Amino acid sequence: MAETYDLIIIGGGAAGFTAGIYAARDRCQALLLERVAAGGQVLNCEHIENYPGFPDGVAGYTLGPLLQQQAMKLGLGVGLTDVDAVRLEGEVKVLQTGNGEVRAHALIIATGSSFTQLGVPGEETFLGRGVSHCAACDGAMFMEQPVAVIGGGDAALDEALYLTQYASQVTIVHRRDTLRACQLLQERAQANQKLTFRWNTVVRAIEGKEVIQRLQIEDVKTGERSALDVAGVFPYLGLTPNTQFLNGLVPLNARGQIITDLWMRTAVPGVLAAGDVRGDSARQLVSAAGDGATAGLAAVRYLQTGQWRE
Ligand SMILES: Cc1cc2nc3c(=O)[nH]c(=O)nc-3n(C[C@H](O)[C@H](O)[C@H](O)COP(=O)(O)OP(=O)(O)OC[C@H]3O[C@@H](n4cnc5c(N)ncnc54)[C@H](O)[C@@H]3O)c2cc1C
Repeated sequence: MAETYDLIIIGGGAAGFTAGIYAARDRCQALLLERVAAGGQVLNCEHIENYPGFPDGVAGYTLGPLLQQQAMKLGLGVGLTDVDAVRLEGEVKVLQTGNGEVRAHALIIATGSSFTQLGVPGEETFLGRGVSHCAACDGAMFMEQPVAVIGGGDAALDEALYLTQYASQVTIVHRRDTLRACQLLQERAQANQKLTFRWNTVVRAIEGKEVIQRLQIEDVKTGERSALDVAGVFPYLGLTPNTQFLNGLVPLNARGQIITDLWMRTAVPGVLAAGDVRGDSARQLVSAAGDGATAGLAAVRYLQTGQWRE
């Protein structure tokens, strides 16, 4: 039978690694499982200027590996594998992974969320070949070419502003006539000559031969369709929580996010959730790290006392 850890953490973002730091400092035998790379969504953040302690900001690709280094230095084990399913055997949590089964007495789910898809023809065909969710990774490929950013929140404006360094023109296609992004980003966007807006507009198709050539867009008020010539598309429509693999293990809210109390505890003894994957999260780096700290402390308390709710 596979080894039984005190604690397994699923997800190597700010929430997961912070939980790991707290658990490791309490000499908990803890293992973190991550399917892609250390850092999670932070790797998509070109420049983070609202994480405390970095007066000049910090690049996501710098912060991500630092989170892992710090946690491992304190004794956290880290494995690179996907967790496909979780089941309970009494109080033991059994995880089915790409590398076989692992077991633990306590579990912290810190799996974050993934970009919501546009769901239009051409999106899958051109994913990674013109459709991108990472301006920092792919922006330079569109030097002096027109690109479109889809969405109206912080991530959309942040990424659109970044892309103006490279692209000849950045068009923000937004289905409403107002933005959700914070005021500072809106002011920066309005002041940028390379940015234009297509309000009340949705994308119906992404078209091209070898590469993307145009979007088919529709005005949602008039129903009028037209073509927008672009070489790249960056959709930022929001995020879908990564909870599908749990198959009903813990209760979710209507958005598919995990329901927790203020100590990050779910309804199942020994199972906690932290960061963007849970309901009521502010969906920021600092709040994800805060959730991770709380979850790490609560998990250790459960392991030491066997008590779930006092
Ligand atoms: C473009 C963009 C810009 C942003 N800019 C900022 C900013 O400037 N400031 C700020 O504070 N916040 C920003 N955010 C939000 C911030 O990045 C997130 O709130 C934060 O990273 C969430 O951390 P997390 O640990 O909860 O989840 P994540 O960082 O999403 O980490 C979850 C991890 O779990 C892994 N995982 C998922 N499912 C499985 C599985 N089944 N098995 C194994 N591993 C799994 C994923 O691969 C991922 O690495 C931005 C987000 C985006 C998308």
